[in-house]
Amino acid sequence: MTPATNPTQDHLYPLLTAIGTPPAGQKCGRLASGFPDLTVQQAVFDGDVEDPRLLDAARAVCTSCPVLSDCRLYAEASLDQTTFLAGETATERASRQGRTARARHRRQVVRSMRAAGVTIPEISFYSGYPMRTIEADVAQRTRADAVSTRDTSEPQ
Ligand code: SF4
Repeated sequence: MTPATNPTQDHLYPLLTAIGTPPAGQKCGRLASGFPDLTVQQAVFDGDVEDPRLLDAARAVCTSCPVLSDCRLYAEASLDQTTFLAGETATERASRQGRTARARHRRQVVRSMRAAGVTIPEISFYSGYPMRTIEADVAQRTRADAVSTRDTSEPQ
């Protein structure tokens, strides 16, 4: 639950991933049994490791975490697509949440990044979303904004 370590993406991390604030008091911030050191443990919770034994160790940490239920709510609300949260990998969460939630997350990422001045090719580079999908999201948003502006400016 810490920011990504890739320096080229650090400043974009809040736009790329979480929407909302993770709960305080998380057990994954301290070294737990089943991990050789805190660096490896952090990599697992960052979603960078797929070793089944380490993922089981992470699940065990979450099971006894005092903020598990808050973390689960955060995982659902944030639509985070990278980190290990509340006993689930991002892939497990995404397959349970379905396409609608993933599309909602993508549109939120695109919207936040565009508002921050990030270009469409850069959004594609950092997020991995196809350019055409991002362009469609931007066009849809532009149309929705135009309708909204027209509706509020018309005399009542
Ligand atoms: S439930 Fe797991 S991922 Fe969430 S804060 Fe606790 S230890 Fe970290």
